[in-house]
Amino acid sequence: MLIFTKIGELKGFLDRIKSEGKTIGFVPTMGALHSGHISLIEISKKGTELTVCSIFVNPTQFNDKNDLARYPRTPEKDIKMLEIAGCDVLFMPSVDEMYPQPDLRKFDFGYLDKILDGSHRPGHFNGVAQIVSKFFDIVQPHKAFFGSKDYQQVAIVKELVKQMNSPIEIIACPISRESDGLAMSSRNTLLSSEERKAASIIPELLNKIIPMKEDKCEVHEIREYIINRLKEKDIYKLDYFVICDAKTLKEVSKFSEATQYVALIACFVGKIRLIDNISF
Ligand code: AMP
Repeated sequence: MLIFTKIGELKGFLDRIKSEGKTIGFVPTMGALHSGHISLIEISKKGTELTVCSIFVNPTQFNDKNDLARYPRTPEKDIKMLEIAGCDVLFMPSVDEMYPQPDLRKFDFGYLDKILDGSHRPGHFNGVAQIVSKFFDIVQPHKAFFGSKDYQQVAIVKELVKQMNSPIEIIACPISRESDGLAMSSRNTLLSSEERKAASIIPELLNKIIPMKEDKCEVHEIREYIINRLKEKDIYKLDYFVICDAKTLKEVSKFSEATQYVALIACFVGKIRLIDNISF
């Protein structure tokens, strides 16, 4: 695996690859890699001829300084995992390399960046759009792979490439889970053992939604059930739970036939904020 830290050197290498007519897949990450990230590398390797992964903890997408400071960083382990996975190129730039001057760009994704994580983490998606657009400019991949765990992020990135008139194909990949169903996340390593056990309630509750809907429960009954279950213990603090139209991300209050839904949750377990979702 080739490792680049400088934009110019990566671009020079990728220009040569592109002149050979090879297709490039791109997997942006913030490191502290787990099998969920590696699943994206594997999907990219199947669908393209050269896979570029980036590891960059992007400061502009953190609205909470403490969250940025404690974000896990495990570069040596990450490099080993990527080598074993057969990743071709790793780009690990410094903050100065990516932001030689403050990025003052303001993106507007209309409704999409005002809801859910957009309203609970002000500025978060603007930071995501800043860094993803910079990476897309540098790498100019044919395809870019994102995890559906960050469902709203995928919707925002799809909107971003439309706004950029970019031909990059955005591929949404399935959520990788631990054996108890908890969605894999770099943040899981920050949970104490008690919090880690308690966190399994998140997939447990999401998995109740489909049977409840089949039992003809209404949207508000599902919401009440989930909110009340989380109120039972002080360790949980719910940020949001909503059921949305899977295509538009508009919240629904009633189910109808032939609509695809997604239920999205963001919940603190102790001090750690976890997100998850289920499509149905
Ligand atoms: P992050 O390092 O958390 O920014 O994640 C980098 C990419 O990996 C994003 O596209 C995430 O959606 C994706 N990802 C994170 N966790 C998972 C998971 N459990 N399953 C699949 N993809 C994931």
